[in-house]
Amino acid sequence: MFKMIFGRKLIQSKSLQIHRLFATSISKRIEDRKLGRLALLRKAIDEIYQNQNHNNRNFDWNDARKQLYERQIHFPSNFEFTLLSAFDVNNVQSYDEQYQLDSNLFHEIANFVSKSKTLQSNKIASIRFCVFLSQYPQYLTEQQLEFIRKIALSIANDSIQIKPVIIDIVTALAHSSPENCRLACQLLPKFLTSQKYAFSLRLEIIRILFQALINHRMSEELLQFLQQNSQIIDNIDLTTFGQLISLIAKTRLSSRKFSKQNLIDMIRCLSDLHMPLLADDMVILVDKILKQKLGYKHIEDVQIDRIKGICPCCGNQLTGLNNDEFLQLKQHFKSIIFDSNDQYMMDNLTEYHLQLMDFEQKILIDDHDSNKPRYDLIVDGLNISYRRSKSIVQDKTGLRTFAKVYKVKDIDNQIVTIMEQNYLMSKYKRILLIGRQHMKSWFQLKRMCQHYSKSIDLNLLLDRTRDDNYILYAAIQHPQTMILSSDHFKDHQNKFIDWYRNNNNSFIENNEIRPNLGLIFKRWLKSRQIRIEQGSNLLQYPNQFDIKIHFHHSNDNPESELPILHIPVVLIPDPYDNDDHKIGWICAMDKLNKKLNKK
Ligand SMILES: [Zn+2]
Repeated sequence: MFKMIFGRKLIQSKSLQIHRLFATSISKRIEDRKLGRLALLRKAIDEIYQNQNHNNRNFDWNDARKQLYERQIHFPSNFEFTLLSAFDVNNVQSYDEQYQLDSNLFHEIANFVSKSKTLQSNKIASIRFCVFLSQYPQYLTEQQLEFIRKIALSIANDSIQIKPVIIDIVTALAHSSPENCRLACQLLPKFLTSQKYAFSLRLEIIRILFQALINHRMSEELLQFLQQNSQIIDNIDLTTFGQLISLIAKTRLSSRKFSKQNLIDMIRCLSDLHMPLLADDMVILVDKILKQKLGYKHIEDVQIDRIKGICPCCGNQLTGLNNDEFLQLKQHFKSIIFDSNDQYMMDNLTEYHLQLMDFEQKILIDDHDSNKPRYDLIVDGLNISYRRSKSIVQDKTGLRTFAKVYKVKDIDNQIVTIMEQNYLMSKYKRILLIGRQHMKSWFQLKRMCQHYSKSIDLNLLLDRTRDDNYILYAAIQHPQTMILSSDHFKDHQNKFIDWYRNNNNSFIENNEIRPNLGLIFKRWLKSRQIRIEQGSNLLQYPNQFDIKIHFHHSNDNPESELPILHIPVVLIPDPYDNDDHKIGWICAMDKLNKKLNKK
C-alpha cells in the first residue's frame, strides 16, 4: 500500500516535470512566432518607407496599410500599438541585433501613434508610448520629452498607484534625457507614497535610477542619490555590486563637478552595502578607481587576525556589530523569532508555554556578573548530531530520509566526538547544549554531560519544538556568546528582512532610519557562528568583524585626504550559494606607513 502511493506520487511528479518542460517550450515557441511576425511587419514598414522616400513622396499611413494588406501582412485591430511592439527595442534586439531604426521613420511612427484615440483615453497606453519613446532618446524632440514629463507628473499625483505602472514611467523618465532623469529623482517620494510595497518598489526604482544616472554621467546627482539611498539598499547580489563598481569607475573626475572627495564618499556608500567583491571587480576598483583616479600607491594582500581584526600592514582594527546595533537586534529578537506558529503552540498547549518560561529562567537570569555571559557557547545538538556524512550520500535509493539512515549510535557518537576532539569543554566555561527529548536515551551524550557536568547544561526540548528558535534566543542574550551549528538559519534571516521591509508605516520614526534588522541579524550571526568544515570534524571559527569595505583614517598622516581602506575579496565562492565565501583582504594606503613596517 505504502509503495503504491509512493509510486503514484513519483509518477505524478515526473509527469508534472514533463508537463512543465512542454509548457516552457510551447510558450517559447509562441514567443518566437510573435517576434517573427513583428519582425515581418517591421521589415515591411521599413521597405515601404524607403520606397516612398526614394520616390520623394510623403509617407502616408493609409497608403502603408494598403501595401501591407497587399503583402498579406495582417495585424490586430490596434495597429498603433502593434507598431510600438514591432519597434520596441527589446523585441528588436532579441530578434535582429543589427536593425537600426531611421530617425525620420521614428518620427513618422511617433506622430502617428500620438494621434491615436486610445492614447488620449487610456493612461496605460500613454505609459507604453512613453516607454517606447524613451528607448530612442537620441531622436526625441523637446515636445516628446515634455509629453513623458506630463504623463509622469500625472501618475505621481494619482491617488492609487500601481507598481508596474510606476516602474514603467520611472524607466521612461530615467532613460529619455538627463533632465527627465533628474525629475524622476525629484518625484521619487511621490512614487513611493503607497505603503503596501513602498520598500520593494523603492529597491527597484533605485536600481533603475542609479543605472540611468551613470548612463547620463550625472555624477553629482549620483553621489547625492547614493548618499540618500545606500543605507537602505539591502540584499544586493555580488553581480549587481560589481556593476555598481564598474559604473563608478566610469565617472570622470573634475574639480568642480566630481572631485576626489566625491569619489571617496562614493566608496563609503559602497561600504554601506556590506558586500565583498568578486576578483574581477576588485581589479577594477584597485586599478581604475584607487590607483588611477585617487592615486593610492600602496595596495597589498593582507591576512587579518579573525578575533582581534588587526591589519598587520597598517595596524588598524576592523570592527563588527557595535553595542547599539546589538541592543536593537536583541530588543526585537523574541517577537520576531517566535512567530505565529510558535505562538499557536504556546497558546493552545500549556506544556509549550511552560517550556519557554522555564527556558527563559535558565538563560535570562545572570548569576551575579552581567559583564560575563550566562553561557559562552550554545550547541545546536540536533544539527551537530545529524550532520551529513559519507554514509548518507551512499544511500543510493534516495528514498529514506537522512535521519533514518543513521543508527542512533552514529549520531550519538558524532556530537560527542566533535565536542571532545575540538576541546570545547576547555575552551568554553559554560555550554548550553540544546536538543530534543528523544536524545534522552543517547548513551555517549549522557556520559559526556555527566563527565563535564560543571560546564555543560543539557536542555532537551519537547519533540515538536522549533529548537533553532531556542538556540538563537539563548545566543542573543549576550554579545560574547557563540553558537555551534552548521545551519544557515535562512528562515530566521527572512523573518528579520520581512520585519524591515514590511513595516513601512513607521519607516522613519522621529527622523530616525528604521534599523535594518535583516542585515544586522546576518552580521551578528556571521560573527557568532562556529561551523563544522565539510567532510571533517574541524571547526571554522568566525571573524569578529564585518565583511565589507572598512574605512580608517591615518593617524600618522592626518593631512592625507585618502583614507586607509580594507577591502574583502571573494577567494572561493560558496558552491552552495549560502553566502559563505572564502574571503581574502586587501589593505590600501596612499603610501606605505613606514613606522609600522620596520618591525
Ligand atoms: Zn591595513
